[in-house]
Amino acid sequence: MRYVSTRGRAPALTFEDVLLAGLARDGGLYVPEEWPTLSKADFKAMRGLAYAEVAARVMQPFVGRAMKAADLVQMTAETYAVFDHAAVAPLSQIGRNQWVMELFHGPTLAFKDFALQLLGRLFDHVLTKRGQRVCIVGATSGDTGSAAIEACKGRKSIDIVILHPRGRVSEVQRRQMTTVMDSNVHNIAVEGSFDDCQDMVKAMFNDTAFRDSMNLSAVNSINWARIMAQIAYYVAAGVALGAPERSFTFAVPTGNFGNVFAGYAARKMGLPIDKLVVGSNANDILTRFLETGAMTMGRVVPTLSPSMDIQVSSNFERLLFLALARNGAAVEKLMEGFRASGEFRLPAKPLKSIRDLFEGRRLDDGATRAAIKGLHKLTGQILDPHSAIGVAAGLECHDYKRSTLVALATAHPAKFPDAIEAAIGIRPQLPERLAGLMTKEERCTAAPNKLSAVQDLIRSKVKP
Ligand SMILES: *Cc1c(COP(=O)(O)O)cnc(C)c1O
Repeated sequence: MRYVSTRGRAPALTFEDVLLAGLARDGGLYVPEEWPTLSKADFKAMRGLAYAEVAARVMQPFVGRAMKAADLVQMTAETYAVFDHAAVAPLSQIGRNQWVMELFHGPTLAFKDFALQLLGRLFDHVLTKRGQRVCIVGATSGDTGSAAIEACKGRKSIDIVILHPRGRVSEVQRRQMTTVMDSNVHNIAVEGSFDDCQDMVKAMFNDTAFRDSMNLSAVNSINWARIMAQIAYYVAAGVALGAPERSFTFAVPTGNFGNVFAGYAARKMGLPIDKLVVGSNANDILTRFLETGAMTMGRVVPTLSPSMDIQVSSNFERLLFLALARNGAAVEKLMEGFRASGEFRLPAKPLKSIRDLFEGRRLDDGATRAAIKGLHKLTGQILDPHSAIGVAAGLECHDYKRSTLVALATAHPAKFPDAIEAAIGIRPQLPERLAGLMTKEERCTAAPNKLSAVQDLIRSKVKP
């Protein structure tokens, strides 16, 4: 299997090289040259398998010959063994043909563990084989950072540097990053927004001299391997609930468009999906795009669901590339226009192809609190603010006669105790594995919102 860049000017790469490269050299994102498909027989053969085995089967064709099948099976087994729930991604029924899939039983209590726990192992495997080291740089609006740190801490071939917007992540999220004391972990608190942090990471990758001298690599959701790992739980939900005979609507609380793009990829592989519901908070660039056809950058406003406080959804570029019939030059033109003017519009045909599948819903903080309260009353389940947005958006768009709804619950409610308490008067408790978090020592370096200052800081901390 080979991968091509969404901007069409970087060389096609193998899985191993795409894993280590993250962003393509032309500024684009890698996508598979073609989509592997699952046959009816493949779906049926997965019934009753453990989550890790389903995941290995879904991922094998994307990895191709880059890795021995037995190695991948072993890595997925190890990855999903660290999850706290026997089912790994348990489903609970909330209504007629309506389910919630809990993706928060990993080490940092958010769905990002599904991909990042595997990525840490994939990186170590490939780098050890090649005798190389990398410096992983990432930006986080909350959950990515801790999940990436947890996946990379103590690994010999990796340094990890995570930028977060100072004061704009929850205390639990911050502490999950800053209390990790392994010497290969470096936290930087930037005086700015998540988008500022993400722009800096992008700029570091576009600074070829810096990128090469530091051996930079990314585990942000631009990394193809993350999308790949996330495809697995869409397929697992489908298999558990009757695919390929039944059709599905997935509802996904969305920020960078990585998670919901994995759903799109599952559909490309043959999972019957009639609709992908994109839930957003007040930072609703995607919902506005689906309504108006114009992608218009706004200002980021802080909300109860900080992991979705994003105005530029990087992974959307992958969907653009496919909607524009894999025309890299057209993608590049749109993205450059977007960077310059803060807006782009799509021609009618690709726009229609996107609207035929994706539907957007926005919930502001008031509606989010109301959703947490209403869903608690309806189902007894306590949902974190991100998950509540996804479930509420899904319920609004779902027709139970046509398909089965699966709403993805992306974080454990105890990561956002203040929001939950304000909504329902109950303070959710952190699970056992995070006991002691709130009193541990923290380590973090503050930095101004300035690229050169952050680069100097990284040079001083990481010796390639
Ligand atoms: C990252 C995150 C999201 C957004 O996912 P994307 O892949 O960026 O769209 C939603 N909810 C939670 C809890 C997250 O951590």
